[in-house]
Amino acid sequence: MLICGASFAGLAVARELAGSGADVLIVDRYEIGERQTSACGIPTEWLQATGLMEAERQRFSSLLIHTPHGRRRYELPWTFSTFDYRELCELLWRQCDARFETAKVNGRARPANGNGQVAVETDRGVLSAPLVVDALGWRRMLASGDGYQPPDAPLSRGLEVHPGGESKDLEVWIDRRYVQAGYGWSFPARDELRIGVGSFDPRFHVRETTELLAEDLGSERVRYQGNWIPHKLRRATEGGVFFVGDSAGHCLPLTAEGIRTALYFGVALGQELREVHEGGQDREQAASRYAEFHDSHEWKFRWMLRVQKLVPRIPPRVLGPMIRLLGSKRFVKWSFDHYLQIAPPPARSANDQNGARHQQGDADHPLGTERDLVETK
Ligand SMILES: Cc1cc2nc3c(=O)[nH]c(=O)nc-3n(C[C@H](O)[C@H](O)[C@H](O)COP(=O)(O)OP(=O)(O)OC[C@H]3O[C@@H](n4cnc5c(N)ncnc54)[C@H](O)[C@@H]3O)c2cc1C
Repeated sequence: MLICGASFAGLAVARELAGSGADVLIVDRYEIGERQTSACGIPTEWLQATGLMEAERQRFSSLLIHTPHGRRRYELPWTFSTFDYRELCELLWRQCDARFETAKVNGRARPANGNGQVAVETDRGVLSAPLVVDALGWRRMLASGDGYQPPDAPLSRGLEVHPGGESKDLEVWIDRRYVQAGYGWSFPARDELRIGVGSFDPRFHVRETTELLAEDLGSERVRYQGNWIPHKLRRATEGGVFFVGDSAGHCLPLTAEGIRTALYFGVALGQELREVHEGGQDREQAASRYAEFHDSHEWKFRWMLRVQKLVPRIPPRVLGPMIRLLGSKRFVKWSFDHYLQIAPPPARSANDQNGARHQQGDADHPLGTERDLVETK
């Protein structure tokens, strides 16, 4: 089995195969944990459920939201943590029994023969395996090529700086001074701040305003990192390859939270592939079950994308009062609990996942079920 990409999604797949006896090779252009690409924020429960608590840097029970017309602290029904990327990847790797090699993946190669193997071209030669996973991020290198290029594709862009510093607050800014469509953030991680700006509009250059936000916070503009972030689901399987994490568009629209979902779909895919190895199903059955699971989440992603598109249209003078109004304890609990349920942590997800596979809508959603939404469009 070949897993391309050794970040959140790829390592989560490999972790599910540990102990199965499957011969798993993971490749990445960098060493495991070498290149951090995010602010590394995740619901604490996810770290707990996956045995990754050692990587935690700081924990938050509230979220401070700033608008040009005031700020509001939301008391969260569950805590959110920042973690150390290198340490988390190393912990995940320790839970795997796969082999690892550095190699740059260039794309699909022509299989040497027609024996059902999928061939991948790398800078170290062609690799072939009957089961191949693309966990390579938004570029989706192993797809047949669907013309997904910024700035025309449904991609957001994010950039952050990592100055030294401390804060007790997890903060976001919904303020057109920083970005027209998107938000700014400061995620403290013990002795470091991760200050950045994300734009849902890929044409908006976030560098200047990331620097502006850092300056407004009196922080240094050092250690830049940024990337494109997909905000739309893409096909889960294609041409015999399984896609997971950003390569499948698993990052949530609106919040751009993609670590938890990369782990969540990675676990689901790993379980399907394990069953193939153990002889319980063949590759095509695994592909169809994984695609069904992926598709069952589509309406939730669509819903979040609708809100993502709506937020920039709200006049700034309405935004402040609205944020205050939505900050009622009851609404915050309801909305954040539902948000967590989009990709619940493994311990809680055994039943939920089955439910998700046969998703029929969300009966206690105050705006109605998905079926209602479709009918009232
Ligand atoms: C600035 C910023 C801040 C963010 N903050 C958060 C946050 O706080 N919380 C959150 O949940 N999400 C956050 N995200 C989103 C999150 O980073 C992604 O959704 C997440 O990293 C997706 O994980 P992944 O494993 O699918 O892909 P990635 O993390 O992108 O990993 C892809 C892997 O593939 C490797 N690779 C890529 N191309 C090749 C190639 N050609 N050959 C070999 N290897 C290759 C890379 O080296 C990497 O290891 C943020 C994104 C950005 C840009």
